[in-house]
Amino acid sequence: MIKENVRLILNELKEGVELVAAAKTRTANEILEAIDAGVKIIGENYFQELRDVYDIIGNKVKWHFIGHLQTNKVKYVVEMCDMVETLDSIRLAAELDKRCRKIGKVMPVLIEINSGKEEQKSGVLPANAISFIRNIVKYTSIKVMGLMTMGPLFGDPENARPYFRKTKTLFEQISDEKIPGIEMKYLSMGMTNSYKVAIEEGSNMVRIGTKIFGAR
Ligand SMILES: *Cc1c(COP(=O)(O)O)cnc(C)c1O
Repeated sequence: MIKENVRLILNELKEGVELVAAAKTRTANEILEAIDAGVKIIGENYFQELRDVYDIIGNKVKWHFIGHLQTNKVKYVVEMCDMVETLDSIRLAAELDKRCRKIGKVMPVLIEINSGKEEQKSGVLPANAISFIRNIVKYTSIKVMGLMTMGPLFGDPENARPYFRKTKTLFEQISDEKIPGIEMKYLSMGMTNSYKVAIEEGSNMVRIGTKIFGAR
């Protein structure tokens, strides 16, 4: 089932759109099945789950951190991950920079944008994104490579479209700023119920869990 699901999605995604298999709550065996079917990037939300499956699977796949990252876990996460998609505070940027420098690594990061301006959600508000980036370019052991957004969760993905569109516009504005040391390459938007709409609005990285692994 997992293999079949992955193949269907990979066939459907157009050239240039990266698939991140969102693997929270999934076992190493489930993740390995997805890898066998062609998944190249696994997204994990929680440090403990990441560690457990990483211990078994290791570096045969790329690992993206896609959950809220606590600074006390950064030390471990930077060793395992190839990208942090959820950079949302200066404090986290400083810690990532410090820990990456220690191990001689430059970590690609995406800035998480709170595109719905929801109070309870993490992420940088769209209006603050450019100054946020200007404040973290001094941290040269992390490299800003784009934006990620969840957007408000709706039953009908059409309702998410304006938030995806807004994030794409912001992505282009930041690009136009030509801030030295950053590269606006990835726009991570879209999950199982919204990825088609997200791609129409310019996403080139989709994070899909349920459609690969089944309901949680
Ligand atoms: C769980 C999760 C996803 C995938 O959600 P599905 O609806 O299962 O596809 C994507 N992104 C993040 C940040 C997640 O936590």
